Amino acid sequence: MKQWINKLRQERTLRQEEFRQLLTGCDAETLRYINEQAREVSLLHFGNRIYIRGLIEISNYCRNNCLYCGIRKGNPHIERYRLTEENILECCKQGYERGFRTFVLQGGEDPALTDDRIEKTVAAIRQSYPDCAITLSLGEKPREAYERFFQAGANRYLLRHETRNELHYKQLHPAEMSSKQRLQCLRDLKDIGYQTGTGIMVGSPGQTVEHIIEDIRFIEQLRPEMIGLGPFLPHHDTPFAGYPGGTVEQTLLLLSIFRLMHPSALIPATTALATLAPDGRERGILAGANVVMPNLSPREERKKYELYNDKASLGAESAEGLALLQKQLKAIGYEISTERGDFKCNAPRNKNKEQI
Ligand code: SAH
Repeated sequence: MKQWINKLRQERTLRQEEFRQLLTGCDAETLRYINEQAREVSLLHFGNRIYIRGLIEISNYCRNNCLYCGIRKGNPHIERYRLTEENILECCKQGYERGFRTFVLQGGEDPALTDDRIEKTVAAIRQSYPDCAITLSLGEKPREAYERFFQAGANRYLLRHETRNELHYKQLHPAEMSSKQRLQCLRDLKDIGYQTGTGIMVGSPGQTVEHIIEDIRFIEQLRPEMIGLGPFLPHHDTPFAGYPGGTVEQTLLLLSIFRLMHPSALIPATTALATLAPDGRERGILAGANVVMPNLSPREERKKYELYNDKASLGAESAEGLALLQKQLKAIGYEISTERGDFKCNAPRNKNKEQI
């Protein structure tokens, strides 16, 4: 197995059969080895500094009915909320004071958050914080809307493709949603000039090794600037309530595979991973992640943005908990970077002239 890992680091890709073997035959020793290799690559590119992004969950209203998601339209049991522009600017202010230089506005596809309203909010943040990056994660929109948000000052967009396989996509989403549409959105975002993020849930219901290989190939072709991977975790009020969640090990394996294939990509240790295991965030970083996204939403609303059971939003997952996060990172030899942390394709090479 180690020869495939060395080859992956060297050549940044593998043959189909080699990926299959790595994904099906990865034991504890192999996982340790690939995590170590990915960590080295991450250290060569980013040093021991972890970028932080302030996550503001702006609305849990959603017109969609994704089968896995706790804020789906069909869940009558959650209390819905929507932040005003004033609320959002207040979150940014608090975040800025704490050292955040990236704000991520995430939410359901809320029909009341019209393109005009989003454009206006982005412009207001851009005006108050000219030195910060603005990331949006607001789902599928027409190309014109993405263009307007970009003109207003947004720099990055997160839109996980969730799965590249069309049949699997249909298992995870209602009939009115389509994989084609989502992929078109990703192409539009890249074309407009956003630093674009995509990714998958690891261990989602129906996911097979073949699907994961399709996801790896898709991301290899798209070359996104950001790659988001977290374990699927069930939510009690969704059709997938009774399904098992993804595992820490499978998530860490994929994280490392993506780091070896995409050395300069921005890859977060996700909240879902930190929710699944108490040391998930640290293990994510030690497997090649270089970003964390603490929660900057108003405290009263955080519990309501429950995408899956017991979603973490306190302690080191929160903006108030930066000191704790700093301490946890220090314990594994890392520290917080308060730089904006844009994607850079020309990351420094190491002294041995290794191809990184
Ligand atoms: N509406 C936006 C934001 C969605 S929430 C959009 O469509 O992009 C952000 C991500 O959370 C989703 O892309 C999905 O991958 C993840 N997510 C949703 N439900 C989840 C669950 N039950 N377990 C793990 N991750 C989940």
